[in-house]
Amino acid sequence: MIRLEKIHKSYITGNNSLHVLKGIDLTIESGELVSIVGSSGSGKSTLLNVIGILDVYDNGNYYLDNKLMKGLSEKKAAWYRNRMIGFVFQSFNLISFKNAMENVALPLYYQGVSRKKRNAIAMEYLDEMGLVEWAEHLPSELSGGQKQRVAIARSLIANPKIILADEPTGALDSQTSFEVMDVFQKVNSKGITVIIVTHEKDISERTDRIIKLTDGNIEKEYKPLKQPYYA
Ligand code: ADP
Ligand code: MG
Repeated sequence: MIRLEKIHKSYITGNNSLHVLKGIDLTIESGELVSIVGSSGSGKSTLLNVIGILDVYDNGNYYLDNKLMKGLSEKKAAWYRNRMIGFVFQSFNLISFKNAMENVALPLYYQGVSRKKRNAIAMEYLDEMGLVEWAEHLPSELSGGQKQRVAIARSLIANPKIILADEPTGALDSQTSFEVMDVFQKVNSKGITVIIVTHEKDISERTDRIIKLTDGNIEKEYKPLKQPYYA
């Protein structure tokens, strides 16, 4: 599903160049639930943004679904993104003046789906997240966990093959974080590839494979010891 070969990326600011990804080799198969861990500044978000075609890389090859993602026009990049990938962020990125249902429906608006139809589909996803009663509430009226479940519903509505989540539990307390992980596990159990950036050990331990980044390199990859989880 995802194959990176010797991916390099630097950020140039003024006269300075910062080498952030230093030859990343990584394969993620369809249906995996993976976490990317590492200290702040190690390149986790940059790597996720390359995988999500939100940012370009300088050297190497990135294959998404066996297609080389290189030198794409913004239009073509958006085309792959919209068809393949859903995004979830630490800060939820919900639109404050739209209610939960409208936020979830937004990707379908961009696909030209009629209001009636997209809202009906959004309600199905809210139902799956246990949020039907909250459909007409604004983000400001929702708890952090509810906001993140709205954001996950939004990430799923266009039927992506991959969900990319950058510190999705970073703004949540530990109980709520575990509930959000329950949701990601449920999403993954339906065959969607899920990649979660986190620096929380108990979050990464709930994924099937941990990829540890250190200073722009993959230091190691390992399977967590499955720990019993008592709700
Ligand atoms: P992480 O997510 O692991 O904390 P990032 O991938 O966000 O790390 O950042 C890696 C390094 O690249 C950091 O030193 C950060 O300051 C720098 N960086 C990130 N984004 C940019 C950017 N758009 N322009 C310049 N430097 C950046
Ligand atoms: Mg980051």
